[in-house]
Amino acid sequence: MAKYIFVTGGVVSSLGKGIISSSIGKLLQARGYKITIQKFDPYINIDPGTLNPYEHGECYVTVDGMETDLDLGHYERFTGIQTTRANSMTTGRIYKSVIDKERRGDYLGKTIQVVPHITDEIKNNIKCLGETGEYDFVITEIGGTIGDIESAPFLEAIRQLKWELGRDSISVHLTYVPYLKAADELKTKPTQHSVKEMLSYGIQPDILILRTEKHLDDNMRMKVAGFCNVDLECVIQSEDLPSIYEVPVNMQRQGLDSAILRKMGIPVGETPKLGPWLNFLELRNTATEIVRIGLVGKYDLQDAYKSISESLSHAATYHHHKVKITFINSEHLTDGSAEEKQLAEQQLKEQDGLVICPGFGQRGIEGKILATEYARTHNIPCFGICLGMQMMVIEFARNVLGYKDANSSEMDASTPHNVIDMMEDQKNISNMGGTMRLGAYDCELQPGSRLAEIYGSVMVRERHRHRYEFNNRYLEEYEEKGMQCVGRNPEAKLVEIVEIPTLRWFIGTQFHPEYQSTVLRPHPLFMSFIKAAIDK
Ligand code: GLN
Repeated sequence: MAKYIFVTGGVVSSLGKGIISSSIGKLLQARGYKITIQKFDPYINIDPGTLNPYEHGECYVTVDGMETDLDLGHYERFTGIQTTRANSMTTGRIYKSVIDKERRGDYLGKTIQVVPHITDEIKNNIKCLGETGEYDFVITEIGGTIGDIESAPFLEAIRQLKWELGRDSISVHLTYVPYLKAADELKTKPTQHSVKEMLSYGIQPDILILRTEKHLDDNMRMKVAGFCNVDLECVIQSEDLPSIYEVPVNMQRQGLDSAILRKMGIPVGETPKLGPWLNFLELRNTATEIVRIGLVGKYDLQDAYKSISESLSHAATYHHHKVKITFINSEHLTDGSAEEKQLAEQQLKEQDGLVICPGFGQRGIEGKILATEYARTHNIPCFGICLGMQMMVIEFARNVLGYKDANSSEMDASTPHNVIDMMEDQKNISNMGGTMRLGAYDCELQPGSRLAEIYGSVMVRERHRHRYEFNNRYLEEYEEKGMQCVGRNPEAKLVEIVEIPTLRWFIGTQFHPEYQSTVLRPHPLFMSFIKAAIDK
């Protein structure tokens, strides 16, 4: 039978619950257990697909085409598991499912209430992963901060599950221990209050993880243990570390995994070695040389291109380099003030490689096209991802094929040269949510091409999230002038990869390879791109 670990956070948001959940998963895997991790987000959106990246950062996409919170990216990168729609849930989806059942008449005339109907739906969605028989542990992360009105039904569901499951479930609660500079003191009061809040929902946390910028001594931990009814060995601290990938090692050093097992009555045994993981960290910590990559995008926000930055960093590490990522604001390239423009242009020139980022809508695209032109005409390694690939195609049409008005019909519905056009099966869709071409599709690579060599295969599967595609009417012209279609979907014949093979490295993918790069399995395309940038 699967065992359940519930991860919640208190005091403030952004404590890194996703990283802790991933680390717990990683450490249990190292002990030979099969794990999965799921995330419940308390917002009403059905999924984060319709959210602006400024709200919650990047939207991650699972193989089966669910648009999810970016924490699922951490889960996959840390543990190598493949998540699906069962790993991502929101309040909106819970309510929708309950309301659909009510409309069907499934509740036989009952009054539908938060307790028990919503809480039962939450419990079922937690247990459905455990009941597959595939996992020894299901780790459930609850988004948001306890005390928020939205979290209440989730906490009630956890309370009930803890009662039903007994020792087969535990609560791991993250809090924040602030450092007051004027008093030169770390303060545990917010943690005590947060645990009180948990208790008011009927949940006694079994394990506390204290996020802190300064080391907590044993007295401090003892105080927390005493005030919060938690064993001393179950008070773990999570100090700021140079990299998120150090967190599992730090957690293991403090015995988080053994504390979890002990609490659940499972024999602890020897502490496993984290061989390949430590090797990755060693490479990371010893790399001295730097490869400079510019991310050309419109969202000036660290989390908006999370999976891309992580993929770049995995690849650079395995090439014994540190990656220095510079965000280049594409809007500034064309519409910025004189200083903004100058800075962006300067940044463009300083890079060893450029990534033209994914995105939606008109804003910032002319700058992306300009950056693409710069990369093409200066032979800078350039990687276009999704909208980035589409920008490569448009730039080529405008400046090589001579269609000055070429565009995507997403940006200019009336352009006579719609080299990027809406996919046929998208044309009658009116709902924006969850209706793009989403999830993993096959891509057949041209035998003998550089792409086939990079992947070491001619058939690959990559994840998608788009509505528009390369317009095959123009394919011959492109190939004649030097931009090749080197990967396409075998059924729909959609162009999935374009390349200018005469350049150093100039590849655009309609899919998002960044969703599949993990710490122990860096993505071949990122590996190859970084190599080209280093060699330049
Ligand atoms: N806006 C483009 C499309 O829908 C690209 C999407 C993306 O970059 N993910 O096709």
